[in-house]
Amino acid sequence: MPQPVTYRGMTLVVPDNDSEWKEYFEHARQHRLALRACAACGLLRYPPTHACPWCMALEWTWREVSGRGTIYSYEIVVHAIQPGFKDAAPYPVVLVELDEQRGAPTPDEALRIVANLVRPDFTPEDEKSVAIGKRVRVVFQDLADHLALPQFTLTDEPAAGRVWRLPG
Ligand SMILES: [Zn+2]
Repeated sequence: MPQPVTYRGMTLVVPDNDSEWKEYFEHARQHRLALRACAACGLLRYPPTHACPWCMALEWTWREVSGRGTIYSYEIVVHAIQPGFKDAAPYPVVLVELDEQRGAPTPDEALRIVANLVRPDFTPEDEKSVAIGKRVRVVFQDLADHLALPQFTLTDEPAAGRVWRLPG
């Protein structure tokens, strides 16, 4: 069993028998965002489930992706459920559509990852800076030698498509 890691007062551990997340975090530890690509239809998926959500095939390979994408949707967490995030609220959680598979297999069902949106120092991004359509890239927050968390941060690229944010 790997050493548990403390993150914002919570204990994080990825057990050796977690066949879905173990390899994902082994890649992340090396600052690589890798996802499962279906051996039958070729589509990437997240989370790294055993079966392809689109064709149900059970074979896959790990494929590294750029970690670049566009904010597809987001929420602002005002009341943190986890005590460790109380002092961070309000903070944004983003749903990022990755460039590798925009609009595929359908515009409603593409390759999207949920993560925190953080500044380069890993503090939460200001809620006024978040908007649908803004460009982001993955960053890896090292928590220990054997564990890093993929997060996203804003880039200075022009926004893609319609830009929208919560009024106010
Ligand atoms: Zn498939």
